[in-house]
Amino acid sequence: MSGKILIIEDELNIQELLSFNISNAGYNVSVSNNGSDGIIKALSGMPDLIILDLMLPDIDGFEVCKTLKSDIKTKSIPIIMLTAKSEELDKILGLELGADDYITKPFSIRELLARMKVVLRRSKVDEDEKNNSEENAIIKIDDLEIDCEKFIVTQNGVPLDLTLKEFELLKLLALNKGKVLTRDYLLDKVWGYEYSGETRTVDVHIRHLRRKIEKDDNYPQYIETVRGVGYKFKDKGV
Ligand code: CA
Repeated sequence: MSGKILIIEDELNIQELLSFNISNAGYNVSVSNNGSDGIIKALSGMPDLIILDLMLPDIDGFEVCKTLKSDIKTKSIPIIMLTAKSEELDKILGLELGADDYITKPFSIRELLARMKVVLRRSKVDEDEKNNSEENAIIKIDDLEIDCEKFIVTQNGVPLDLTLKEFELLKLLALNKGKVLTRDYLLDKVWGYEYSGETRTVDVHIRHLRRKIEKDDNYPQYIETVRGVGYKFKDKGV
């Protein structure tokens, strides 16, 4: 496990205990003694995780958490809050500040490290999902751009007039670039199980689609017919 951890804690002995053990566990640690400095360090350092003490000399942990969670830049940085008493924990839970986990002092370092791992893993999964959905939102291949959210296809920036089925066929083929998709598979994915049509339906729609995207539909440069099997979006290996 690695990552940048910011510790916001004013009590020096706890700060040192945390800093020592967390660095030993392989993380890159930075520390802050108060709330306002903590916010500045969070914004400038963009840590992967913040350990935030509730009782701080200037602005308390509640405010720090609220500030970080309402800033677009820092809101996805996970926060583990440290509290001295369980009454404080009740208050935190009641306020629903968006902290990702809470731990009550005195705590065991082993437990804290285990919780850190869980929070970091969860935040990485969220991040990956976000990246994937952003990547999949717009597919760009050669001069085609397929916007999966807006259902728009443009070629060299010019919007193409595709029907919904044509759009879905193109998107499916483009997402599987270089792979042969059978007529049955395409029929199933685009028209669904309830549709009792023939695989010829796929051929007809591919023909229409080619007329719209290919320069010469007798010599298609995008969608290739794989005789007796189905279709594939050509992978030009670039
Ligand atoms: Ca404190």
